[in-house]
Amino acid sequence: MEKVWLSSPHMGENERKYVNEAFDTNWIAPLGANVNEFEKLLSQKLNNQEVLSLSSGTGAIHLALTLLNIKRGDVVICQSFTFAASAFPLEYIGAVPIFVDSEFETWNMDPVLLRKCIEDCLKHGTKPSAIIVVHLYGMPAQMNEIMEIANEFDIPVIEDAAEALGSSYFNKPCGSIGKIGILSFNGNKIITTSGGGALTSADNEIMKRARHISAQAKEPAHFYLHHETGYNYRLSNVLAGIGRGQMEVLDERINRRREIFEIYKKELGSYEFVQFLDEPEGCFSNRWLTTVLFNKDGLNEKVRKNLENENIESRLLWKPLHQQPVFKNVKYFGNNVSDQLFYKGLCLPSGSNLSNSIIDAVILRIKNILDEV
Ligand SMILES: *Cc1c(COP(=O)(O)O)cnc(C)c1O
Repeated sequence: MEKVWLSSPHMGENERKYVNEAFDTNWIAPLGANVNEFEKLLSQKLNNQEVLSLSSGTGAIHLALTLLNIKRGDVVICQSFTFAASAFPLEYIGAVPIFVDSEFETWNMDPVLLRKCIEDCLKHGTKPSAIIVVHLYGMPAQMNEIMEIANEFDIPVIEDAAEALGSSYFNKPCGSIGKIGILSFNGNKIITTSGGGALTSADNEIMKRARHISAQAKEPAHFYLHHETGYNYRLSNVLAGIGRGQMEVLDERINRRREIFEIYKKELGSYEFVQFLDEPEGCFSNRWLTTVLFNKDGLNEKVRKNLENENIESRLLWKPLHQQPVFKNVKYFGNNVSDQLFYKGLCLPSGSNLSNSIIDAVILRIKNILDEV
């Protein structure tokens, strides 16, 4: 069988055309028509908020922390159940992360634990400077509860919507709910620019400063003048051409990913040990990856290995950050929900370019394993 990927790039009709336009006009630069158009299309998906395209999602989080004036020693609360890139930028700055565990409804930050964590910080005389909440696998976090707590304590929220472009929470697009939202267009995300990211905020001052410092903080002068530290974080006009084409097919990609989730659920959902994550009220997930829990010891790894032998890529869920060696000294608030998810869960091949016959073949193999246990 030809290699089946978890989630591989899926180009539409026009990406190549827009990249060629960049060549034809010699706009091989971090600015140009593709960047402007890509940002306009992203903005339309994000409540018409201004969007700044960047070179990566990780860079976008670093920039977001900088825009919130997070400094060395500042405490920042971050969801534990996520990709390490949600928290790596804290290390760049020297900020102090605290990890908060998830709830079972959405697998994202548990608002009850968040409140406990903030109260504990305050008791020890430190006020957290920001909260990084993630919409993992495209499923929106419980943002009503989280924003209520954040507002009560006056702590800005960074929404890591790297996996959640096109997802929404009570009709609000993920990425547009917190103080700052970030997106990723890495190769395996729901749309890709081969590598890229974006930052958005409803706060015009933040966006103005974001544009300024993401392009080396050049002051208007006929020589290079800088009042503050700049970053070279803008997206190239060539790559934005890919993004521009991808935005034209985003809705199709989301529909297909949701369809793939439904096929898996229909075919596997009735097995005794198998559990899928439904959308809670108000949540619309882009279903970036279909995830499944196997409620039997070691079954997720067994399925993964068997699929691997058939040249089918699947992957365990994100290993919680409080279990990562690199973060071993970080404080953690939780009840091990994310550990349970990690020990039971598996991401199934979910790319929008996978045909029904491929999905059926994957399902057949999983059924064969399940029939044996
Ligand atoms: C992919 C991802 C990032 C990082 O984005 P890059 O564009 O790869 O730098 C951050 N957070 C989450 C949750 C991600 O999935």
